[in-house]
Amino acid sequence: MVIAVLAVQGAFVEHEQMLERMNIPYVELRKKDDLFQKYDGIILPGGESTVQGKLLKELDMFDILREQILTGMPVMATCAGLILLANKISNDDREYFKSLDVVVKRNAYGRQLGSFSTREEYKGIGEIPMTFIRAPYIEKVGAGVEVLAVENDHIVAVREKNQLGLAFHPELDQDERVHQYFITMVKGKISCL
Ligand code: GLN
Repeated sequence: MVIAVLAVQGAFVEHEQMLERMNIPYVELRKKDDLFQKYDGIILPGGESTVQGKLLKELDMFDILREQILTGMPVMATCAGLILLANKISNDDREYFKSLDVVVKRNAYGRQLGSFSTREEYKGIGEIPMTFIRAPYIEKVGAGVEVLAVENDHIVAVREKNQLGLAFHPELDQDERVHQYFITMVKGKISCL
């Protein structure tokens, strides 16, 4: 099993370090050609969604990546990655993959609470650390979307079929369980389609 980490901008190195600790092989997606390698799941890291979206289009990666996601490739998206997947961004007109049936709010915690850490329940795993950095949260989910974690009445983790969307950054904490949850999705032990 190989995981592809989108590596055009943002916090992709931390995901790679987590995968190394877990002994999971990975490749980087930096340019169009990289999208034709063989891999079994994709991680969309945090960073700046506007920059990532622009770079993906400039590098001619956007449509291929979207197609892979829409045809069932397992994807774990953190923070900016979640914004890229969302059907709608409530406080921004931009739109990207529109593959995940949620409405997100960008920079939803405002300036003062821009970055913080907490611990909350994650469905099926238990209590986990959650680090938020100028994070979005999910305001609305569609009928096919399972809510996996809530922080202060805000939805911060969801799953729809092959897509896992997280408002926080599990790669920044030592706890491997959310990545492990994704790997189990990739292995098909938690059904993807
Ligand atoms: N604020 C960023 C955005 O809107 C997301 C922050 C993050 O990924 N840590 O794209």
